Amino acid sequence: EGASNILFKVVLLGDPGVGKSCLAAIFREDQEKESSEHQQQEVYECTLTVDGEDTTLLVVDTGESEAQKPNGSCDSPMRLGNAYIIVYSVTDRASFESASELRIQLRRTRQAENIPIILVGNKADLVRSREVSVEEGRACAVVFDCKFIETSAVLQLNVQELFEGMVRQIRLRREGT
Ligand code: GDP
Ligand code: MG
Repeated sequence: EGASNILFKVVLLGDPGVGKSCLAAIFREDQEKESSEHQQQEVYECTLTVDGEDTTLLVVDTGESEAQKPNGSCDSPMRLGNAYIIVYSVTDRASFESASELRIQLRRTRQAENIPIILVGNKADLVRSREVSVEEGRACAVVFDCKFIETSAVLQLNVQELFEGMVRQIRLRREGT
């Protein structure tokens, strides 16, 4: 029971324009955003019921200037998360490459920790402008030892599954310790 009161910070990372804010907004509901102006980051609290148990996530949507912060600084998004959602757009190969780099940086910054990470190929609805195949996304996740899912924030496809998957990943780690 008590464990469900713990807040888990889930940080969204990825190139500008890949759909991080759209993904986060699905869980914003009507709550007021706790926007910290200086950090250009928005934090949403959302409680999900997964497998009959409630877990509250603090979803941190990073903005553009945020992402530029050096990994060394203690308020770098690379340091503040308990879990990460690394997003790329399936219509933008450069964002896929950035996702790999983010994964590498994250591994370097948080070496000793076994943090849950989900790689997300967003904009799966844009079939005709796809540049990254599902297979490539999946293979990348295997190499980087993380989970993988394709989503469409616009069609709200797999978005619930993404956040439920994150909750399950967090619980697995909790049980492992
Ligand atoms: P961010 O910079 O990563 O936060 O990206 P945004 O959430 O602001 O989205 C950037 C643009 O991509 C916006 O115009 C969105 O409407 C669009 N977008 C986001 N997700 C999707 C998606 O799943 N499908 C499509 N077609 N467009 C999307
Ligand atoms: Mg944004």
